[in-house]
Amino acid sequence: MDTLVTDTLLVTMDPGVPGSTGDLGIVDDGAVGWIDGEITYVGPTADVETADADHIVNGDGCLTLPGLVNAHVHGRHSLLRGAAQDVPEIEWMTRALGPISDHMTAEDGIVGAKLTAIEALLSGTTTLGEYASEVAELVSHVYQPLGLRISATETINAVPDDRADIAPDETYPFDRDAAAESITRSETLFKRFGDDPLIRPAYGPQALDMIPLDLLKSITEQARIHDRTVHMHVAQGDRERRQIAARYGTDSTTVAVLDDKGLLGDHLLAAHLHGATPEERERIAEAGVRMVGCPSSITAIDGVVPPIVEYHDHGGAVGLGTDQAPGPGGHNALREVRTAAMLAKADRGDPTALDAAGAIELATIGGARALGIADSVGSLSPGKRADVVICDMEHASVTPTVQTPFHTAIPNLVYAASSNEVRDVFIDGVQRVSDGSIVGLDVNDVVNDANKRAKRVFADAEADWRAAESSLVTAVDTGRL
Ligand SMILES: [Zn+2]
Repeated sequence: MDTLVTDTLLVTMDPGVPGSTGDLGIVDDGAVGWIDGEITYVGPTADVETADADHIVNGDGCLTLPGLVNAHVHGRHSLLRGAAQDVPEIEWMTRALGPISDHMTAEDGIVGAKLTAIEALLSGTTTLGEYASEVAELVSHVYQPLGLRISATETINAVPDDRADIAPDETYPFDRDAAAESITRSETLFKRFGDDPLIRPAYGPQALDMIPLDLLKSITEQARIHDRTVHMHVAQGDRERRQIAARYGTDSTTVAVLDDKGLLGDHLLAAHLHGATPEERERIAEAGVRMVGCPSSITAIDGVVPPIVEYHDHGGAVGLGTDQAPGPGGHNALREVRTAAMLAKADRGDPTALDAAGAIELATIGGARALGIADSVGSLSPGKRADVVICDMEHASVTPTVQTPFHTAIPNLVYAASSNEVRDVFIDGVQRVSDGSIVGLDVNDVVNDANKRAKRVFADAEADWRAAESSLVTAVDTGRL
């Protein structure tokens, strides 16, 4: 073995691991080791020959678990953290964020994605479901150099970036050429990264209201032929509902149109779904559609708790995402795990909703299933890739922990951790975070660069942002921001 983590509390998410207990596959004094990034041993430390390992990582006092999967992220927008929140949903995209994001350059977006990657790694994230136009730029400039595992989703849409002047019930104009270009970029992505073990490309038709139906049909056909994922925002709130009603008829809904046109199936990864009815969600879960829910984002933007628990109850594969920094605040995966559990309890009026074990499941194997990569990550299982996170449970924020009569480290990780407890992160067997620091990256350089760029973008955008007249303008003018 090239690396062996020993003497640690293992939460493997694989109940089949030798010497483990329960649904989470817990091993009290466990070890996990790998060769060339492939896990070759998971089980009790007492049962493995430590002398065979080139590199021993002492996991005493730590909880070691599979790398967290953040299945839905728009990384560029971290440069605009704080730009759009506390506004009505109908304003958020077109009148609050849009007039500012329109002033970002490609380089600004790269620096924003670096902020996202930093926050992800330092909170124990090993896989990001990145969703962006020209996503290859972010993969090659940001994510590949840092060694992150990426579901690289190319945004495909046919609508203009500047939609501030389009009334909510007036259909967006479609630019078929723009959509065709983004489909071509997607096909290039599959060719360019198709053989990269860390990069899994996907189609990203942005939403049903943003793409002509015939183009969505042809994308779906290609996905089915080549066993690819179509990652799409589905039923994401009132703005979309009004667009669908305007375009397809007042009784139409996103799910009804997708169902009617034969576009549901296990190729589809649906983000959000809070605008669908419970019956529609049950229908699409039966159809094999995977789901990603973004609790912080949808609460911040829509004032709604996404139907993660319900979708899980329908038997659907479901994972967690942080969406984008403006609104929910950022990409701290452990904070999102806590938020998911807390909001589920409040939403259902039931403190048993989404227990700590369920929240960890969502953030690990659940996210891997949602992205279609559970054959290689999501649990610490022999034969899977070594995406491994080691959390210091002697950190003051989560201590004390006991292992009898039960493991308090599990609720403490979910409810008490801030991410400062993340000590080491390995992706595909390679150490990317060591003792709480990202290997080979000066975080301060990125922060300084981001601050300079954000100042310029906000200054350049001021006139357009004011002209769009979101309620944030009033908030500023009355001294609240
Ligand atoms: Zn999104």
